[in-house]
Amino acid sequence: ALKNAHEPEFLQAVLEVAETVIPFIEENPKYQNKKLLERMVEAERIIVFRVAWLDDKGQIQINRGFRVQMNSAIGPYKGGLRFHPTVNLSVLKFLAFEQTFKNSLTTLPMGGGKGGSDFDPKGKSDIEVMRFCQAFMTELCKHIGADTDVPAGDLGVGAREVGYLFGQYKKIRNEFTGVLTGKGISFGGSLIRPEATGYGVVYFAQSMLATKGDDLKGKIVAVSGSGNVAQYAVEKATQLGAKVITMSDSDGYIYDSDGIDAEKLAYVMYLKNELRTRISDYVAKYPKAKYIAGAKSWEQQCDIALPCATQNELDAESAAALIANGCICVAEGANMPSTPEAIAVFHKAKILFSPGKASNAGGVATSGLEMSQNSLRMSWTAEEVDERLKGIMLNIHAACVQYGADGNGYVDYVKGANIAGFVKVADAMIAQGVV
Ligand code: NDP
Repeated sequence: ALKNAHEPEFLQAVLEVAETVIPFIEENPKYQNKKLLERMVEAERIIVFRVAWLDDKGQIQINRGFRVQMNSAIGPYKGGLRFHPTVNLSVLKFLAFEQTFKNSLTTLPMGGGKGGSDFDPKGKSDIEVMRFCQAFMTELCKHIGADTDVPAGDLGVGAREVGYLFGQYKKIRNEFTGVLTGKGISFGGSLIRPEATGYGVVYFAQSMLATKGDDLKGKIVAVSGSGNVAQYAVEKATQLGAKVITMSDSDGYIYDSDGIDAEKLAYVMYLKNELRTRISDYVAKYPKAKYIAGAKSWEQQCDIALPCATQNELDAESAAALIANGCICVAEGANMPSTPEAIAVFHKAKILFSPGKASNAGGVATSGLEMSQNSLRMSWTAEEVDERLKGIMLNIHAACVQYGADGNGYVDYVKGANIAGFVKVADAMIAQGVV
């Protein structure tokens, strides 16, 4: 902790894992005296670089680029790129650390990594975003490759940015490989990849509810965020018979008591993906809905909460409000959206609660399927990919139950995900010696 005292998000992520994995190591001699967790918290490599680019006024702009190559014990580094002004090493190390466990849970051969920049895509022209992506990749391309490190999207990096990044990689390296995932369908992308994280969160919630003989039909669902993960979580939850009543962005949330159905969701997608405007514009088209500025979705009555925006967006007060309003299930779509205090509230109330590293793993799992399709130079149908995604989410749920069930019908999914993720990486590290 002393070494990383200035990195609060990273410490938070490590502490949560340590609390559950250290007791497991103490009970299992195979994992003792090998400093496995100590090695896992130290990134194998971190690359920090200058990104200089020209804005539309011809002015020079300078941003900082990063790639954290955390752990390659079970496969090439794999994890998204985040473009957001809050990006720093603490945030990226937390994400890369979580990613190592998440990727292990998917059962696919992918190590852990994460990267990005403090570049803010908001308010930038399309050409500025392209110039930035090209400048960023001009350096990053020296450190990644289809068998080395395979980045993808994350906050602020969607299909548009992945396209520009891929184009620049290909130009400089003169090779067409699966070096990035989340690509467009016309150049090696996988069907269902855009949907995968959001769909996977809902499949995972479905598995959790099934342990109680319950399902999504007729449930009221509160969602936060209105980006990639949130959009497809809303779509799948609605398809499975739930009513989604909220979506949000960093300025506030919309409440629609009639539910955000397929037609309304198409409008949200138009607002966020094409006009790139604010969620508040929803109420201009659907005046029965309300926009609540500066507040969060969690104050509304719901059965299920799906936090799909960003880290630490759900604190103890919000958690208490959810419980008081009868919420029975929280499945994290974002990475570490619940604070440790909020998780303590959920555990105390013994509701169904899954950490992002388990319930949002469908995105990276489908990225793994994209890598396989690229290596095979084949593309699978949407149905084929969706079936594999469902199977992977079921397996992750089963792994969480295996290591997290207390024998009295309660499953601690945090403990289950951490230990299941740890075991595979630890076994590979032991087999590969002290490296
Ligand atoms: P997007 O950039 O597509 O969307 C992010 C959404 O979250 C936007 O609606 C954004 O609003 C909102 N948001 C960002 N910061 C805040 C904040 N401080 N308070 C409230 N809302 C905020 O990103 P994704 O949907 O891809 O990612 C969302 C989360 O899911 C992240 O934690 C990401 O790491 C995680 N994740 C994503 C995966 C994927 O496949 N995309 C895979 C696994 C995890 P605004 O427009 O105002 O910024």
